[in-house]
Amino acid sequence: MSNNKISIVVPMHNEADVLAQLVTALGDTLTNEDYELIGVDDGSTDDTVTILHQLASEHPNIVPVVLSRNFGKESAMAAGLDVAIGDAVILMDADLQHPPEVIPTMLQRWRDGADIVNAVKRSRGRESVVYTFAAKTFYQLMGSALGDDFNKQSDFKLLDRQVVDTICACNERNRFFRGLVAWVGYSVEEVPFDVAPRAGGHTSWTLPGLVRYSLRSLIAFSATPLLLIAWMGFFTTAAAGLLGLQTLWNYSTGVAVDGFTTTILSVLIMGGAILLCLGVVAIYLSVIYDELKRRPVFVIRRPRTSQSTK
Ligand code: UDP
Ligand code: MG
Repeated sequence: MSNNKISIVVPMHNEADVLAQLVTALGDTLTNEDYELIGVDDGSTDDTVTILHQLASEHPNIVPVVLSRNFGKESAMAAGLDVAIGDAVILMDADLQHPPEVIPTMLQRWRDGADIVNAVKRSRGRESVVYTFAAKTFYQLMGSALGDDFNKQSDFKLLDRQVVDTICACNERNRFFRGLVAWVGYSVEEVPFDVAPRAGGHTSWTLPGLVRYSLRSLIAFSATPLLLIAWMGFFTTAAAGLLGLQTLWNYSTGVAVDGFTTTILSVLIMGGAILLCLGVVAIYLSVIYDELKRRPVFVIRRPRTSQSTK
């Protein structure tokens, strides 16, 4: 058995159907490793917590972490990283879409010296055309903000202890794990994998949830939308100056036309543009407001002791 301690962190939201399969699959793959499995229950409404505790009573290396409500996958991963004690920490999904068979290769790369091992998608699995297009656009924008290729990236990663400590020290609330990992630097290796179909249950993501998550992540890492507004303001002012000069010229030469349509159109277009720009600024403001409150990223619900159950 290797003398390194490995932590496997798994965020779980309504994963009762797949938990036992996950534990067996990890056990079969990591036969020669000293590992702990940190199962972070993210406010599940099914039997995830019960099954997690039951599995923990059978396998002493399972550490159940129960959040006080559904905080979202990013917060659940942050909670897992906080609790993990391993020399290396592996983050993976509960539904076996991240195949455990890839883990030995990731561990080998880490033992050969890599601080971060990214499991990258060889193919993106089965997704709708709209989803693929939206994901590509989002990752393009994130890539231009962080200078990384995000399209093939996943949350399936191995992090060395010092990387985990650096990420835990980043206490921003609007978290985008993949962005943080790209931002911290260190030496990075990649291992390809094929996204497997979900082992059971179903995805917790909804379209509005995904849009909100993408917007927040983009804003947490990029000021490009704000800069675009500044450029828009610059070009509009330049165009307005030229148009103003032409209008004055027409007025002075007596050929000014009575342009009611033009006036209405320019008022509407400018009004719309100003409101749109204000909206972008408002989104940034709301994120700043959220950060300013400095509330914790997650809340762990501790099991009650017998004295405190009154
Ligand atoms: N997850 C979570 N909290 C949430 C939503 C999802 O912890 O609010 C977990 C989920 O249990 C799974 C992982 O995040 O382990 C990925 O979720 P899912 O499989 O639903 O997403 P997809 O694979 O479709 O991107
Ligand atoms: Mg999944």
